[in-house]
Amino acid sequence: MKAVIMAGGQGTRLRSIAKDLPKPMVPVLGKPILEYQIRCLLANGIREIILITGYLGEAVQEYFGDGSAFGAEISYFHEEAPLGTGGALYYLREQLSDDFLLLMGDLMLDVDFCRMLDFHRACGGAATLFVHPNSHPYDSDVIVTDTAGELSEYLEDRKGREVPISEEGPDPAGARVTGVLGKKEERSCFYRNQVNAGIYVLSKELLSDMKEPEGKVDLDKDLIRPMIGAGRVYAYRSTEYVKDMGTPDRYESVSADLEKGVVAARNLSRKQKCIFLDRDGTVNELRGFVKKPEELVLKPEAAEAIRIINRSEYLCILVTNQPVVARGDCSFEELEEIHRKLETELGREGAYIDDIFFCPHHRDRGFSGEVPELKFACRCRKPEPGLLYEAAKRYNIDLEASWMIGDSLQDVLCGKRGGTRTLLLQDLQGAVKAAETLEAAEAPDRTAGDLLSAIRQIIA
Ligand SMILES: [Zn+2]
Repeated sequence: MKAVIMAGGQGTRLRSIAKDLPKPMVPVLGKPILEYQIRCLLANGIREIILITGYLGEAVQEYFGDGSAFGAEISYFHEEAPLGTGGALYYLREQLSDDFLLLMGDLMLDVDFCRMLDFHRACGGAATLFVHPNSHPYDSDVIVTDTAGELSEYLEDRKGREVPISEEGPDPAGARVTGVLGKKEERSCFYRNQVNAGIYVLSKELLSDMKEPEGKVDLDKDLIRPMIGAGRVYAYRSTEYVKDMGTPDRYESVSADLEKGVVAARNLSRKQKCIFLDRDGTVNELRGFVKKPEELVLKPEAAEAIRIINRSEYLCILVTNQPVVARGDCSFEELEEIHRKLETELGREGAYIDDIFFCPHHRDRGFSGEVPELKFACRCRKPEPGLLYEAAKRYNIDLEASWMIGDSLQDVLCGKRGGTRTLLLQDLQGAVKAAETLEAAEAPDRTAGDLLSAIRQIIA
């Protein structure tokens, strides 16, 4: 396995810090950002690294040499004239491995690349994009995936069989990419908050028709987008730390995160902590079942509360029962659209959800229009803890170090069965009632009046 790093950036907006250095050589806590990337590759067992240099490439080569001082084998491709983010690959295609990793050299990151490579091989696509939610999706390139379509197809395949989708279904973390919303394009639609982070696993297949570049080649637009229509591009969703340092402000915050250990802690080879949130009545107003996007209304304190989680050491994951799907009141596509609205609106306020896990099942049969394949007693409908287990598996979460927050006893029981600590949201009247009816063993660890005060209790 080889890795290619695009290390030719100029860092124009970082001039006050970078002085006369190429962007990947900008020091963070005394070391160039590129060195952190190389050390992370080495930690994943990837030793063969090709650095693509341009602006002041000699500074890069002088620092890293042949890589032996770092335990790596480094070679160089120097661009005399800039070839964009993809052009150099044409000249490297003979020496690349069948699958190779490509990184943008101006990112601070700490990633379990082995996990992403396994994912790429399991999907069998031509390209896998590392995507993650961020606090400003509205001015970022957003990757559109079709998880709902895959679930519907899957259901169609299983017609007549009782199979818990969340137990045996396709992995929604691995959704096929269906489009890209460019940051400069007008957006009138709702979208999931999943931004292209600048990390790729590519198969050589992607380069097979490539012609010698006559100018700049854009990796995303010229090489990857044409493969999307053919269903050959996948999105790998991760919560790991990947941030660019394009401006002095971002440079400062990345430096601070590195110093506090936040960068390393988010690597998915390490145990994560999570605050699990129920959806209806916790993040959005409880107004009966939500069957259409227009029925979803965020609670006024939700974005502020979630922003606090986003800045903390905790992941933020929604776990929600959506029996409306089994009842036939809401299709997977409509549920996806509801979640797109939720993420779009939180994103406008700088808040994001790391992922959403839902149970589409319900056990009681006999309603007109229901989906019989989803009508059974599953292991993921809260208070069963299946959704927590599924999230824990995907994001390596330590449930004992995590919290489950919701507005019903189902949520409390689910957290207890899953091994998390629990917090019940309720008004004063509800609290009195609950105290009367609850067995001590089922009582939540804490209670709070609303999500914001709940989060403030947990995160000091
Ligand atoms: Zn279920």
